[in-house]
Amino acid sequence: MAAVLIDGKALAVKVREQVAQDVAAFGERVCLATVLVGDDPASHIYVSKKHDASAEAGIESRDHRFPDSTSESEVLDLLAELNADEDVDGILVQLPLPAHMDEPRVTRSVDPAKDVDGFHPLNAGRLFLGEPLHVAATPLGVMRMLEEYDVELIGREAVVIGRSEIVGKPMAMLLLAEHATVTICHSRTPDLAAHARRADVLVAAVGRPGLVTRDMVKPGATVIDVGVNRTESGIVGDVDQAVAEVAGLMTPVPGGVGPMTIAMLLQNTLRAALYRRVGLPSG
Ligand code: NAP
Repeated sequence: MAAVLIDGKALAVKVREQVAQDVAAFGERVCLATVLVGDDPASHIYVSKKHDASAEAGIESRDHRFPDSTSESEVLDLLAELNADEDVDGILVQLPLPAHMDEPRVTRSVDPAKDVDGFHPLNAGRLFLGEPLHVAATPLGVMRMLEEYDVELIGREAVVIGRSEIVGKPMAMLLLAEHATVTICHSRTPDLAAHARRADVLVAAVGRPGLVTRDMVKPGATVIDVGVNRTESGIVGDVDQAVAEVAGLMTPVPGGVGPMTIAMLLQNTLRAALYRRVGLPSG
């Protein structure tokens, strides 16, 4: 039987509508500032989408775009201004940054309370300790999808392929927090297929089209495809289409994880505004 497709687009609409209602109920202005450096066309599209989605949810946004030649210190100066600006609740630095910049140094210059991407070590550390504040939007979106589709996690085998700071590691921490038995695989993992086949929940976050094949998936498993790969035949994920013949639930690409990322960013921004008014959760 073919897998049921997880409709990330529809769920993202639902989350965004909820955020819009919550922003209205909050009754105060909520503001997201984005910082983009360089000419990467995909980054410009992503940032524009984030601004459109913010406006739709009643979240104000500020759009800071710099040419590729901008120095790191100019960006750090802007981040210091945004950190100190009482009118700014959330700050997002669009990655990748140009090669001449020290990406960790720039992302770590965002005030952790405004770090709606959850990249700051304080936010990564809080997630590790089970006291999350801001969590990266993509893995958060995956968790929201698993919840919406009633995917059982307690005691189940979850296998995450990819160990980036942005997706793989926070994804594994979130699954662990829900009591899954988590395995993290990466480019040095021998016999990836053997690990993948154990998974009740398999998350692929690699960036390689067709990496996960039908024979790597346990019948009935939930397969989440985070990959976004631009190919001659359009945008595809990391999971081969034939996986749909064995999986129980599966995300499509496009229309799966991608739309959820923006929805969760909006949710994080509203949360940042709330925390800044009422104080951070303890931890
Ligand atoms: P990344 O930083 O390049 O990390 C890729 C990970 O995959 C690394 O941990 C790498 O292992 C691992 N890997 C590479 N080749 C492998 C192989 N053959 N077998 C097993 N593991 C392998 O990428 P990322 O930022 O996490 O993004 C991953 C994918 O998700 C990309 O396609 C990206 O475009 C997409 N993405 C989508 C969204 C969304 O909203 N839909 C958001 C973020 C990212 P090593 O650590 O050993 O190098």
